[in-house]
Amino acid sequence: MNGNRGKTEQKSERKTEQEAQWETCVCCHRKIRVVPDQPIEFRAFYIEGAGQLCYDCYQEIYGNRKRSQ
Ligand SMILES: [Zn+2]
Repeated sequence: MNGNRGKTEQKSERKTEQEAQWETCVCCHRKIRVVPDQPIEFRAFYIEGAGQLCYDCYQEIYGNRKRSQ
């Protein structure tokens, strides 16, 4: 009975803590599900010299460029 309440609170606390560790898109500043200690070579949408992009920004910047050429 009491245990259920405690579980729910712990869960939401954990989520916030995890989100705080996520990387931010350098373009739109949205949180991305990538932790900062994840190696760059395993990251999706990471641009060397620019930083971490989200899927949408990556498609907008690089997807369009590839198509128009
Ligand atoms: Zn973005």
